[in-house]
Amino acid sequence: MQHPKPPFSGACLCGAAQVRVTAEPLLTLACHCRDCQKLSASAFSLTVMVPQDSFTCSGDLIVGGRKSDGRVHYFCASCLNFVYSQIGTGSGRINLRSSVLKEAALFAPFVELMTEEKQPWVSLPVQHSFARYPESAAQVQDLLEAYRDR
Ligand SMILES: [Zn+2]
Ligand SMILES: [Zn+2]
Repeated sequence: MQHPKPPFSGACLCGAAQVRVTAEPLLTLACHCRDCQKLSASAFSLTVMVPQDSFTCSGDLIVGGRKSDGRVHYFCASCLNFVYSQIGTGSGRINLRSSVLKEAALFAPFVELMTEEKQPWVSLPVQHSFARYPESAAQVQDLLEAYRDR
């Protein structure tokens, strides 16, 4: 598989929130959970996971989505486009919505999550599939390594 070369950049729907990523992504994924279906107004969400220290976002953002422990979802304050999520404090990783990136076409999902809530007519060409989520940090590490070595 081709490895897209950083930097990557993009913007929300209205352009007020500009994102930039200076490192290679850590993982690409699709999530089929019901929350992501509602958030994306679609059948699944698409994520490019990137190192937090490689990521910048300018523009006014607001916190939205479901308020849950360890996850904060950021939206453009002007157009309310879903831009990224902070996953855990100290994880060092950002879940950027693939759709805001100009290079979105390069980031086919490598992993899919929450297939137990998947719409039955969706089929994605992923390498790894989970009924829910990876169960351990070691399993996540294996996915990151598999993605890097793809
Ligand atoms: Zn916007
Ligand atoms: Zn989800």
